[in-house]
Amino acid sequence: MSGTDEAGAADDGFALWDLRVEVVAGAAPMVCDHPEGSWFEVQGEMLVFPPEHPGFPLYPLAAILPLLPAKQRDTDPHDWMTTDAEIACPDPHCGGRFRITRIRRRRFRHSEVTLVPLPGGGR
Ligand SMILES: [Zn+2]
Repeated sequence: MSGTDEAGAADDGFALWDLRVEVVAGAAPMVCDHPEGSWFEVQGEMLVFPPEHPGFPLYPLAAILPLLPAKQRDTDPHDWMTTDAEIACPDPHCGGRFRITRIRRRRFRHSEVTLVPLPGGGR
């Protein structure tokens, strides 16, 4: 399947959303070391942590990770993946919530991210 670049030219391009995951307060106090307002971004396949919040706890990260590739892709407006943006911390005693926001679209070329050929022989 061929993509179309921003100018409308046919190529092997496609777009994914870059994401920001921000800690927001829930009803209970925070238990884990993820202070309210801390955040990281998903830029393509990279997790990017800002200097002021260089780390993130392992267990909440493990709960968030499976949702990120789906959030990077365009989803149906009626899909809950489109509308629901907050993930609860997996620690049942922690009030932390993680808000996932689509922040910008990033273009990729199929030929630059995989060696698997496109159907029909293109890369
Ligand atoms: Zn937590």
